[in-house]
Amino acid sequence: MDIFKTMASFDYEQVVFCQDASSGLRAVIAIHDTTLGPALGGCRMWTYATESEAVVDALRLARGMTYKAAVAGLNYGGGKAVIIGDPLTDKNEALFRAFGRYVQSLAGRYITAEDVGTGTREMDWIRLETPYVTGVSPSSGGGGDPSPMTALGVFRSIQAALKEVFGSEDPAGRTVAVQGLGSVGFRLCELLHGAGANLVVADLREEAVARAIHAFGAGRADPDGIVDVDCDVFAPCALGGVINDRTISRLHCRIVAGSANNQLAEDRHGSELEARGILYVPDYVANAGGVIHVADEMQGYSPERVRTRVDQIYDRVRDVLAMARKKGIPANQAADRLAEERIAVLRQVRSTYVVHH
Ligand code: NAD
Repeated sequence: MDIFKTMASFDYEQVVFCQDASSGLRAVIAIHDTTLGPALGGCRMWTYATESEAVVDALRLARGMTYKAAVAGLNYGGGKAVIIGDPLTDKNEALFRAFGRYVQSLAGRYITAEDVGTGTREMDWIRLETPYVTGVSPSSGGGGDPSPMTALGVFRSIQAALKEVFGSEDPAGRTVAVQGLGSVGFRLCELLHGAGANLVVADLREEAVARAIHAFGAGRADPDGIVDVDCDVFAPCALGGVINDRTISRLHCRIVAGSANNQLAEDRHGSELEARGILYVPDYVANAGGVIHVADEMQGYSPERVRTRVDQIYDRVRDVLAMARKKGIPANQAADRLAEERIAVLRQVRSTYVVHH
């Protein structure tokens, strides 16, 4: 691949290739933009078919983190790492400590965290080599699983969207179709049920569906049929790309708001949702609770501070929707614009020379 041309296309700052023969490490660290602060983003471990697939994934995910942090009001830039390997068979201490040494070599320009294929055990190994890691276990000073805060942020997003569409943020009596009952989806159901919403749920794991029916009196939908459910809110909490040419005409909801990353198969699906009268809460605005949670560890984790900041996702969603209305653009474009404006103005502010000790 033409790496410099690709980097130039979206203004990436740096790509680091990491190789360690003794542990078998092959990793890529992509740093997109550090205007707001050090690049923060998870470390994904995956069986990439080719090396360029790994590089493209790192680049795409790093840029997404720039936008997510900027809209969430965090003083972090966007970065991401990928380790080429099978998370089921190739994980070991040496591999992650080797990766940690590469993170340390960047001296704080990049801060890593858990992502698909990695967890607190791996972050604890990385922590042995560098302080520039978050999402470590509570016994190592971390905040633990970010999913409850992600779920709270999605819940607040749904409330903000309800307010916009129905004039009241109250979920009581509203029907929410939740796709995916994993760490985030199940907790989101708890919050919605507690607030009096009716739930319809789907998951590939039958035991998760049975649990939700038992705990929340939820209705059941087939994994393939959840997009067809007549509801007020469709909450994708499983996979990316769920809003696509095949599904968009089947939606019978007024709002799409969930935790899954990259819900729109393509950007144009944001405009198509709007044309169909469906309000879309941009995924990276709704699911920022996780990154707010891990970012807080860099200050010494405070559950109260995290909760307050996650609560403010309600206001971020209102800002995005207000911008969309004012500019006459779809919500996904409004979120991108808010992120770009914040970065541009702070780049200007930070151009004043000051002495750092
Ligand atoms: P998870 O792996 O715990 O749960 C995903 C659930 O979705 C599983 O129960 C799985 O069986 C189910 N699922 C998979 N395919 C499905 C399908 N086709 N139909 C119905 N159910 C299906 O993951 P999670 O941590 O709950 O994250 C959910 C989504 O939110 C992911 O896209 C993740 O990237 C995103 N996200 C999570 C966090 C977090 O803090 N965990 C933060 C930001 C974004």
